[in-house]
Amino acid sequence: MTVPIRTHRYAELTTAQIAAALSEDSILILPTGAIEPHGPHLPLATDLIVAEAVSNAVAERGMAAGHDVWLLPALGYTKSDEHAKLPGTMWLRASTLFETIVDIGACVAQTPARRLLFLNAHGGNSALIEVAARELRRRFDLQTFFASGPAQPGPTERGLGIHAGWAETSMMLYLRPDLVHMDRAESSVAVAVADSVHVGFTKTVKFGWLSTDFAESGVIGDPTGARPDIGEKLFDERVDTLVAALDEIADFDPGRVRA
Ligand SMILES: [Zn+2]
Repeated sequence: MTVPIRTHRYAELTTAQIAAALSEDSILILPTGAIEPHGPHLPLATDLIVAEAVSNAVAERGMAAGHDVWLLPALGYTKSDEHAKLPGTMWLRASTLFETIVDIGACVAQTPARRLLFLNAHGGNSALIEVAARELRRRFDLQTFFASGPAQPGPTERGLGIHAGWAETSMMLYLRPDLVHMDRAESSVAVAVADSVHVGFTKTVKFGWLSTDFAESGVIGDPTGARPDIGEKLFDERVDTLVAALDEIADFDPGRVRA
């Protein structure tokens, strides 16, 4: 007798179920987080917790909506060298993470699935995952997709709430309030970067940086106005957008429509 599958988690399937349940239309979601300092008020696993929660909700809701979507176990040790000077950081060299992602992609290519979506919650991973996504496209003929959390600067952050600030702290107050120490939250807006015309995180000229360039705490943003209801709204918006994107991800194949 065949037992029906009641999970959206890839690793809860048996090897026989992988062959039976997955097809070339399946979308595998790989959450990517980080283990790195998030100021005095948030835990090291902040990005991992957010990546897993968003990915889990997208997979769960996507599957309920009829999508062929599966959640892979998250990647927690990633590229956090910008926080290397602070205690607690666990990071892989760029080359190590690149090869890790390539190896995971090679394994995905051994399953019937052809579509791999990276849902990333740590900005320090973005550039490398984009490069790795192309590598997997070329070497294993996978359709690869990459979504990172959009910048959502708070009202007092001058566009610079990129680490342990308003959005991330609000998200954690919603997801894991037991791990948030709001009494220790301190504003740390990188004023010199906000005031420069040409050089900045998203300006004409980018720059190499370490989180400790801006403040001893490594915080880049203002978490003091964070609230759980803001976190819930940001979380729901992100999940809604990604669930809506599954429609296109399921069909996306530029080769099919090439002129
Ligand atoms: Zn973070």
